[in-house]
Amino acid sequence: MIDTLYIESAIEQHPRVATIRRRFPQARTVVCERFGEVFNPKAQNFRLQKQHPALILAEKYQKFVLPAPAGYGIGGQRNYYFSHMLNCLYDCRYCFLQGMYQSANYVLFVNYEDFQEQIRHICRETPDQDVYFFSGYDCDSLAFEPVTDFAEQFLPVFAELPNAWLELRTKSTQIRSLLNRDVVPRCVVAFSLSPDAVAEKVEAKAPNVAKRIEAAAKLQQQDWQIGLRFDPLIYQHDYRQQYRALFEQVFAAIDAQALHSVSLGVFRLPEQYFKKIHKLYPDEKLFASPLQTASGMVSYRADLEQAMMADCSQMLLEYIPQSAFFPCTL
Ligand code: SF4
Repeated sequence: MIDTLYIESAIEQHPRVATIRRRFPQARTVVCERFGEVFNPKAQNFRLQKQHPALILAEKYQKFVLPAPAGYGIGGQRNYYFSHMLNCLYDCRYCFLQGMYQSANYVLFVNYEDFQEQIRHICRETPDQDVYFFSGYDCDSLAFEPVTDFAEQFLPVFAELPNAWLELRTKSTQIRSLLNRDVVPRCVVAFSLSPDAVAEKVEAKAPNVAKRIEAAAKLQQQDWQIGLRFDPLIYQHDYRQQYRALFEQVFAAIDAQALHSVSLGVFRLPEQYFKKIHKLYPDEKLFASPLQTASGMVSYRADLEQAMMADCSQMLLEYIPQSAFFPCTL
């Protein structure tokens, strides 16, 4: 599935690079100096590249872990995110990555140990306070697991840090590495879910919703902490029925009382990303919804946004305790 591998010359001999190269013996290999030479040039077409993305193996030098934006969190005061990978196997039409990056190629930073060292360092700063780390910000945390070994390599680190929480955010069913190891009590596997009708239209290449629910239920049965992320809420004229049916489907398989957290957030994108995505996909019906621009963000009209949040919150709270509910205030 990967036809071309770009490899930064400085990490050509890195053991993780060698392992990945063995996975793709047929791939054309191109050595480059810095990944930005391939990833950043402006004259690239994200939509075309998305058909056959290359994999760029790179080294990250700084800013391994960054503070999460205010309003982003699942109950903690100290929230950080980190991205071992840029871009995603899936192709959600609402994804901000299409607006943020020039390229749809995948970048994988192979120097995991540097991320891990910074995570340890941040945890040591406040040994008596929990610190939350979010990993699925610029990619899906688990979708590429067979290639990246990301969870396999990071979970042991988190297991040893008494005040560290990790959120793995995913639409994937790549849960084998989790099922095959001891549960990490402060790891939340957070599944993003949408109604079937929405997922079929705008979450291309992602596993169907029933499969995601099945994966979440399997992990929950093995005592992994599960999160549910209904984010972004997508407007359809019959959204109430669609979300009600989704919640019924979810809570028929998942123990609502045992959930770590449930969050909810409406569709919104920075205006410049929205414009770029709209240009890439001018016929996309998602963008014909009742949208407005305010303070540089494109979102649904305020009345609609409030109604969707209120309706979906009310429906969710029929199943889950208030203490597990984290509506997104971004
Ligand atoms: S799964 Fe997440 S990161 Fe991947 S394309 Fe969809 S929204 Fe973007």
